[in-house]
Amino acid sequence: MKSILLLLLATVLLISCGDQEANLEFERQGRNVPSFDSDNAYNFIDEQVSLGPRVPNSEAHVQAKDYLRSELEASAGENSVFVQEFQQVVYGDTLTMFNILAGFGLQHQDRILLAAHWDSRPRAENDSLDSGSPILGADDGGSGVGVLLELAQIFKENDVPIGVDIILFDGEDYGEVSDLDNYFLGARHWSNNPPVPGYNPRFGILLDMVGGEDAVFYKESYSMRSAPNLVNEIWQIAEIKGYSDLFINKRGGAVADDHIIVQQQAGINMINIIHHSVNENGSVQFPPYWHTQNDTMEIIDRTTLQAVGDVLLELIYNRIPR
Ligand SMILES: [Zn+2]
Repeated sequence: MKSILLLLLATVLLISCGDQEANLEFERQGRNVPSFDSDNAYNFIDEQVSLGPRVPNSEAHVQAKDYLRSELEASAGENSVFVQEFQQVVYGDTLTMFNILAGFGLQHQDRILLAAHWDSRPRAENDSLDSGSPILGADDGGSGVGVLLELAQIFKENDVPIGVDIILFDGEDYGEVSDLDNYFLGARHWSNNPPVPGYNPRFGILLDMVGGEDAVFYKESYSMRSAPNLVNEIWQIAEIKGYSDLFINKRGGAVADDHIIVQQQAGINMINIIHHSVNENGSVQFPPYWHTQNDTMEIIDRTTLQAVGDVLLELIYNRIPR
């Protein structure tokens, strides 16, 4: 059954147009936009966090993979979900990892990609008391997935006007500080081993740390280089919806994340919505709970989730021309 889906997708995607400029043009479409329920998104984060840290090779990691697969199957249908399993030796351990993919609106040739990482960090180097233990990663990992699971439910109930693919990447946060080669493991594997060869969505949006209290989303630099029109459209929607205190209309820092791997290795224009700012020295600043044991449900704020969900739904349902 899976191979039928993949064959179908492959046929559809190979004939989709590759006009990069037109792919990043936006206009109001006058379509109805469904509403986002931040309570649902919150609960999807809580479910992940209640399993414990989702670190590759742990029991919680396998449980979370099964949980995410079943949630996506409930929304997209069993035949539209694909788990890409792979092994990689990192720091002497053979890690088993899983990218989890789901497709919506398979009849559409034109597609977009939404992604988040679902693993959580195996250590907490910024924690003054317990830096050696893995973190719960409520915001760093859990929040992007929570938003995407709620969007998936909405896509089930409200026909998407364009094809939407969701990818939950594994192994984003495995690397030790500054060892970027061992970050982004799932994004790298997916980009180099595409389940659908020739996959060519109009653009991609990565969500990382999109549920924290006092969140601020500056316009991330690699995103601005890859797809400025898309970034500007999203920030403009946020302004209209009264969220300019979260979506700050200023250039942010350059944040290495899954999106740059997808940009460079899969050739897809992809942006990142990520809670960060830039301090007076010009370096990137993440929230105080980042890579500490305080990244728990305590710091998850429904207001932030609601803003991100509202903006994405307006973009997906009402701003993308056919
Ligand atoms: Zn992280």
